[in-house]
Amino acid sequence: MKLQNARLQLLKQSVTEISPETAAQRLSQGTVLLDVRENEEVAKGSPLGAIRQSRAFLEFQIETKISDSNTPIAVICASGARSLFVADELSRMGYSNVSSVKGGFSAWAEQGFPVETPPMLSDYDRDRYARHLAIPEVGEEGQQKLLSSRIALVGAGGLGSPLAYYLAAAGVGTLGLIDDDHIERSNLQRQILHNEGRIGQFKVDSAAETLLEFNPNIVVNKHKLRLSKDNIDEIFEDYDLIIDGSDNLPTRYLVNDACVKHQLPLVYGSIFRFEGQISVFWPAGPEEGPCYRCLFPSPPPSELAPSCAEAGVIGVLPGVVGTLMATEALKILLEMGEPLTGKLLTYDALTSSFSTLKIPADPECELCRKAC
Ligand SMILES: [Zn+2]
Repeated sequence: MKLQNARLQLLKQSVTEISPETAAQRLSQGTVLLDVRENEEVAKGSPLGAIRQSRAFLEFQIETKISDSNTPIAVICASGARSLFVADELSRMGYSNVSSVKGGFSAWAEQGFPVETPPMLSDYDRDRYARHLAIPEVGEEGQQKLLSSRIALVGAGGLGSPLAYYLAAAGVGTLGLIDDDHIERSNLQRQILHNEGRIGQFKVDSAAETLLEFNPNIVVNKHKLRLSKDNIDEIFEDYDLIIDGSDNLPTRYLVNDACVKHQLPLVYGSIFRFEGQISVFWPAGPEEGPCYRCLFPSPPPSELAPSCAEAGVIGVLPGVVGTLMATEALKILLEMGEPLTGKLLTYDALTSSFSTLKIPADPECELCRKAC
């Protein structure tokens, strides 16, 4: 204790301490209030508007939360001791304007400054999604976002299988499966959500069973229907993001048009024999990218656009393409990286090559440019 006290005395001389009142005032003027207490402490309450970062991963994760080293930071802990150590550490890391809140959260709450109870992950979720929590770009906050996200998947077949599997694994809280087909034996060459014993069942029922066995804590909504102009609005209204894993052009246009109307991000993918394509269509998004009609204003004649059943597809291809689509969906939900907005990624399995084409929005697009 002697050593600790001596160290604290030294820190009190070198670190600027401010009162909760000053911290509250500065918070409203752009100072970041950084709560460095542990999760179980934060779960009981934390200053309203604070950024939370437990000490354990401070050095590894702080830059993703506070990227500008000139940002004024007021560090708060329970009583004002740990925050001295953290303030000192942040100064050493290069943050130029760091102070410590005297009396910590106890003083903050006692003096009546606003407190919130942030949603926290359960111990189960912390265990299940531990590898996400270890990534600074995802972390506790990102996992919360995924758990509260709602994705609608059009098609529970070839692309829908890896998509739904990985999104369920990642902890996307609600998956809506839209499909009215039954399982056929020929589907099992690639549609890994289903199995031999379920031939003849609705794909949506089989998919929901598989997914809930895999991750019982997500919600799977079964939309056992074929999308049409009459039902699509009501369904899409309920979701944050749409993924099109359908295999026919009328559905593709219908889905695109509804996504533009509801300003929803649309992750698109298609497969043909040994080739796949992936993109993100989101005219209302931050990049103001194209919609599907910017590329193809109207459907080509059906003989030029054969379906999987007619053209065939190599069994693993939907796995590659669907997994890339799921990755795009996670990037959008977590607001990280560069989604494939305005770009078409193509994959050729025979040459093991990827290429990216730029696909700008068409300023003349009847659908998305008019609507924006
Ligand atoms: Zn468009």
